[in-house]
Amino acid sequence: MTIHAIQTGSVRIKWAQVRGRGHGLRRRLGIFVDAHWTDWLPTYAWMIDHPEGIIVVDTGQGAHLLDCVRSLHPYLRWEVEFRIEHDEEIGPQLRALGVRPRDVKRVVLTHLHIDHDGGLAHFPESEVLVSRGELHTARGWAGRLRGYLPNRWPAWFNPIALDLTAESFGPFTAIRRLTNAGDVIAVATPGHTADHLSVIVVHEGITYVIAGDASYTEALMLAGEIDGVSADDATALATLRMLKRLAAERPTVYLPTHDPESEERLSRRRVAIVRIGTDGN
Ligand SMILES: [Zn+2]
Repeated sequence: MTIHAIQTGSVRIKWAQVRGRGHGLRRRLGIFVDAHWTDWLPTYAWMIDHPEGIIVVDTGQGAHLLDCVRSLHPYLRWEVEFRIEHDEEIGPQLRALGVRPRDVKRVVLTHLHIDHDGGLAHFPESEVLVSRGELHTARGWAGRLRGYLPNRWPAWFNPIALDLTAESFGPFTAIRRLTNAGDVIAVATPGHTADHLSVIVVHEGITYVIAGDASYTEALMLAGEIDGVSADDATALATLRMLKRLAAERPTVYLPTHDPESEERLSRRRVAIVRIGTDGN
């Protein structure tokens, strides 16, 4: 089994989105008053070349995101900027790796934010899995008001709603095994969105966490610093602590979507170094 990091263009956002300041609504509104942009950050999608079939986790950015500069939605128009060429989308990049998108058995989405579902159009023949709650949140006009782009979903898009079960893996208590071998596992990592998932791959003694936007970087996960968009402070913090506990329990390579170090961390199998504080976190 091999995991590939596929960079689908880049994005820049406000610092107050990466690292939340203050609490609750004030933290979330902070994005709109912050004048400080991050550097251009990568947007990774992931391909798991698994003996039971190829699994893609997140589909990254699509070139249609360049239209956001004309969006009427204040977040899309003013608070995020994308760079992406057509040949940087996930479809052409998979072909360059010798994989036809139609050979992808399953696509799992950590959540439906626009830089994670932007490459869906490349997978009309694949089984697409999305957490049931996330699908509900992202649909229709209510979804569009929340900054999702359900109007950009391909006409054929009819994902399988994923329900997690009350089983445990490490500190996680809501999971779903995605392979018969049990080595690819969706786990609930709520916070960034209420029904956000991460996908864990266990291979040769290392636990890889494809973390989506559970945090923007490994350092923020380890520090327990929640982002600027999570709706609920306590839920987001609890998820970061579970991820940290997982990394304390077993050698863990942590792979967030927008961490500039994710790709190198994956190729060097660099595990997270965890220090547990005196309060046990
Ligand atoms: Zn997101």
